[in-house]
Amino acid sequence: MKEPEPKSHALDAVLNGVRGISRRGFLALGTLAAVGCATSNQRARKLPDPVWEGVAPKPAVCPPVIPNKRGDMAFVLDRAAWTRGLPDRSNLNPMLPVRYITLHHDGMSPFLAKDQASAAARIELIRVSHRGHAWADIGYHFVVDRGGRVWEGRDLKWQGAHVKDHNEGNIGICCLGNFDEQSPSDEQLEAAERIVACLMDKYRVPVSRVRSHQEWQGARTACPGRSLQREFVQMRRNELSRLGVVDEGTARA
Ligand SMILES: [Zn+2]
Repeated sequence: MKEPEPKSHALDAVLNGVRGISRRGFLALGTLAAVGCATSNQRARKLPDPVWEGVAPKPAVCPPVIPNKRGDMAFVLDRAAWTRGLPDRSNLNPMLPVRYITLHHDGMSPFLAKDQASAAARIELIRVSHRGHAWADIGYHFVVDRGGRVWEGRDLKWQGAHVKDHNEGNIGICCLGNFDEQSPSDEQLEAAERIVACLMDKYRVPVSRVRSHQEWQGARTACPGRSLQREFVQMRRNELSRLGVVDEGTARA
């Protein structure tokens, strides 16, 4: 059975009226119904209570190579750190050569916790939700938490399930939280930039093929939420563009 595609989001209709609010002033605006990035038709779920704890250490962008299964991405926490759940291998497609990177939010209730245990529980909640849709596994390949950690999601050897009709060769990265209702933390933005930059470099994905979910034609979604979208556009225009990763298909000699 083919794995179903993610459904589009349903938040767009309620997103007007809070434009122009600064990132720092964006927290805790309203209480929209919880809507998962890839789980639009689900009921709101009870999420772990926020826990205010210390900030995770900040690795430098593209840390030194530490030999492991991901080579230069050794800063990524193994899947075993958050779940014992196994994918349904009968319902997975092999990953095709990587051409795109796509950023998402989880789109559920606002999430302020920075500690590892709360992040792990949130990721497991997403996985269980996606499995509940008869998907093979969590749809995203990587997850970025509010404390600045990057977690392994679906193994990159498998195609993801995160952009309807556009999952082939497309790496999915999900930032925990709902960025129509809150702002990403600085640590989360730095971690998102780090994993995107490393993936761009590793798979030679030019900035022109680094997108947010809403930027895909026909996506009909507000994902990754207004505040993260704004930060992502800046990040792409500045730091990610400066990486100089060239589209080898169109590069001139
Ligand atoms: Zn999305």
